[in-house]
Amino acid sequence: MNKRKRKLEGSKFRMLNEMLYTQHSQKNLKLFSESPELFEIYHKGFEEQVKEWPVNPLELVEQEIRKLAGSASIKVADLGCGNGQLELNLKDQPNIKVHSYDLVDKDHVKACDVTNLPLKSNKLDIAVFCLSLMGSNHVKMLQEAYRVLKKKGTLIIAEVESRVPHKEEFQTNMDKLGFKLQQKIQPNNFFFVCIFAKSKPKPPLPNKLLNPGKYKKR
Ligand code: SAH
Repeated sequence: MNKRKRKLEGSKFRMLNEMLYTQHSQKNLKLFSESPELFEIYHKGFEEQVKEWPVNPLELVEQEIRKLAGSASIKVADLGCGNGQLELNLKDQPNIKVHSYDLVDKDHVKACDVTNLPLKSNKLDIAVFCLSLMGSNHVKMLQEAYRVLKKKGTLIIAEVESRVPHKEEFQTNMDKLGFKLQQKIQPNNFFFVCIFAKSKPKPPLPNKLLNPGKYKKR
């Protein structure tokens, strides 16, 4: 790819990224379902970005799921899964069934806004958000994950550290939403993976949790 094309692709990616973070999820669903080619542009940019990181957070998430599952049969939902790589990576473990959801239907990925999942309540063992808590209403995504998780279910969040406005406040807000922190994995000061146990929510629930994420110009 020549330099000018690369620059143009980079700026399209950053523009889409900003829209995904700042718009309501219903608008994001509309945007990608009306123009699925934008999803492809977004993911090309996203993958370029991930290649530059020393470790892909999705690999850490995968390791944690393997540990949590052991030999038990478990049901996982990858919420905002992109191209659904987590499901593919875990195909060698027949006891781990992954359901992949994103805004666009593609191969094994089912299209939906994850604030409104086509799943029954209290059925999942693990819900995953790997860099996917996007949209002005991202708190609603966590409430939906809460609904579909079993009583002793686990939530895994991988996120960019710079999105957390105040560390203590983030943890208190997660507590309020009914997610008790079990473990925090911090491979570098760029991103983290947090593992939460479903617990009792403590209203009033917060309406904001994370700042929009930004990817640097390349
Ligand atoms: N989890 C993947 C992809 C991260 S990119 C990985 O780590 O590789 C973030 C993804 O979240 C994008 O594919 C975007 O379309 C998706 N997303 C954002 N808001 C969403 C929503 N409301 N419902 C479903 N997917 C959403």
